Amino acid sequence: MSQADTHFIPNNYTPVGDLIVIAICFVMLALIYFSYMRKSPAFRVFMTIIFTLILTAVLNVTYNALASRFGAVPVVYAFRCLFHAALFTVYFLFTLYIAEVTRLDRRKTIRILLGAFAVLAMIVVVDVASSIRSFNEGHSAVELSSRGRLVFLVGYLAFAATNLILLATVRRRLYKWVMFGFYSSVALAFAILLFQQILGGGSSFTVSSFLFPVIAMFYIMHSTPYDAEIGALDSTTLNATVSEWYGKKRNFIFMSLYMPELAGEGEQMPDEVRAAVRQFAVEHFRNALLFQPDHGHLLLLFPKNRNPDYEHRLEKSLKALREYHRLYQYDYKIVIGESIEAISRKNEYISFIRNTHRGMALNTVHRINPEDTAAFDRSEYILRQLADIHSRHDLDDERVLVYCQPVCNVATGKYDTAEALMRLRFEDLGLIFPDQFIFLAEENGYIHTLTEIILHKTCDEIRKLTAEGYEINRISVNVSVLELKADSFCDDISGIISGSGIPGEKVAIELTESQNESEFDVMKSKITELKDRGIKFYLDDFGTGYSNMERIIELPFDIIKFDRSLVIASGSSSRSEKIVRNMADMFSDLNYSVLYEGVENESDENLCLDMSASYLQGYKFSRPIPIEELRRFAERKKEIS
Ligand code: C2E
Ligand code: CA
Ligand code: CA
Repeated sequence: MSQADTHFIPNNYTPVGDLIVIAICFVMLALIYFSYMRKSPAFRVFMTIIFTLILTAVLNVTYNALASRFGAVPVVYAFRCLFHAALFTVYFLFTLYIAEVTRLDRRKTIRILLGAFAVLAMIVVVDVASSIRSFNEGHSAVELSSRGRLVFLVGYLAFAATNLILLATVRRRLYKWVMFGFYSSVALAFAILLFQQILGGGSSFTVSSFLFPVIAMFYIMHSTPYDAEIGALDSTTLNATVSEWYGKKRNFIFMSLYMPELAGEGEQMPDEVRAAVRQFAVEHFRNALLFQPDHGHLLLLFPKNRNPDYEHRLEKSLKALREYHRLYQYDYKIVIGESIEAISRKNEYISFIRNTHRGMALNTVHRINPEDTAAFDRSEYILRQLADIHSRHDLDDERVLVYCQPVCNVATGKYDTAEALMRLRFEDLGLIFPDQFIFLAEENGYIHTLTEIILHKTCDEIRKLTAEGYEINRISVNVSVLELKADSFCDDISGIISGSGIPGEKVAIELTESQNESEFDVMKSKITELKDRGIKFYLDDFGTGYSNMERIIELPFDIIKFDRSLVIASGSSSRSEKIVRNMADMFSDLNYSVLYEGVENESDENLCLDMSASYLQGYKFSRPIPIEELRRFAERKKEIS
């Protein structure tokens, strides 16, 4: 090695490219930090790639800086080897990433990774060996860089080929645009490499060409809602597919698998089920696409003409799913149908299928029929009306009706309280009952407006009745636990009550038990606040869910409403009766009043009277009636002259 070589600049290297790579990597890390990412195994590999990329760029800058300062000395060789090793580790990680994303089976994964690792090891060994030889032979700095280039080029091509072959073998597991993204980024990276070879006179190789595949992965796999683990697409892509197929008049079959227990945020289908569904989608149906519009919901679409024997194959997949049900015990609902023009046109499969799920029993398979479409049209109509009611926010809206069920006060034998029950009435559909609209209002955020209307109308009627001399102690209104979350809840409620000019104690609010911890705290603070304004609280539907006594007692309820199911149970077995009686006694001892719901006949009535009843409600006394008709039940105060 001669002195003259000391201050060589390897192939016009400038650190700009590497610095840009480092900057972009940090930007990506920041984006990842501030956005929600599911920490899947593939995602962890992706993060490792970014960090390795940063390391590689730093090593390249260092290597070039040292080389220009010291020439072909051992430390420079060492850094060059490190730089190359890091660069190829990035490529090795790409291979690992593709295997992970496509969920190859273990055997294949191991085989591919061993192959890729062998390539990596070989390159590193050859690189180190040739560096040592170059140094021993006292090569000049110019030779140093040209030899390195050759090793590099061979390694690069070997890895590019490995990954392209791997992509080709897994292509059926990836959505075509994801494939396209991968291929084009690899092509772009390759183009950059060639460009550098020509322009930079060879080895002015920066890490930047590796950045494109990484950015592609980031956009395609992690920033879009593509569920890499199951190979399912999200609802945006579903809509795009439906539009495309509708445009091409391509009829398709859909099969929906819904698992209600896994519908919550953060829940996941068991790996085996996901793998099985994907396997079926790929193997049994041609041109099939799998979507995951929601947690616990998978939707398979495939063109009808490409799958003439689909019935047979559907039966096969149903058999397999039943087998999984036997093994894992997850409840399911399956809907199968053929594309429907009107639903395709409006791109409404998800709502349509959801609507159909509602009427289904667990663990059943349903074939779509014309009644389902009619029911869906009806519920869409109701939804539009609800949206309109919500946006107008007219507390006197005539479409919302207050019905009322009088409640018998056991101590006095009078009907001095009642429950307000909502009905809707539209010109074209007539009277509509809560089971057809409450869930729609809750799911779409309209429920609070409806409550406000019901409360307003109820207060108005209470004012009239009292003015006319009727003895009405209070009327209770149903409120959804969802509504309590809004900060304005307490003010909205007390604003309406005070606006009507009646005292707070004339109104009660019925709530059901909340299911989760955070709701419980909100519930407690809101109840306490409104109780201070005189409003009473009922616990509705006691006995229907999993009741948590400790929590119930922590909330300041006034009346516990025992659900009709408890009345039925205690009528049919003495064991149940004993339990219900003890619970009723316990609540009475704790100064709650017990109200029995669904008292339908005299034997129900006698049974409840015998089990600490303070109030009785049910068809035995009255069906729900328009609130004005309460006059038939309420008593008038004796005139004091
Ligand atoms: P809920 O609060 O448990 O209301 C009692 C339901 O039981 C009413 O059904 C009532 O008509 C029915 N019922 C009354 N007596 C008997 C009886 O003796 N036997 C039987 N089998 N049933 C009886 P409805 O009016 O159809 O309301 C159903 C549910 O809809 C209500 O259950 C409540 O959860 C909800 N709902 C009704 N109105 C409103 C409202 O204004 N707001 C909210 N958020 N929910 C409401
Ligand atoms: Ca109720
Ligand atoms: Ca109830």
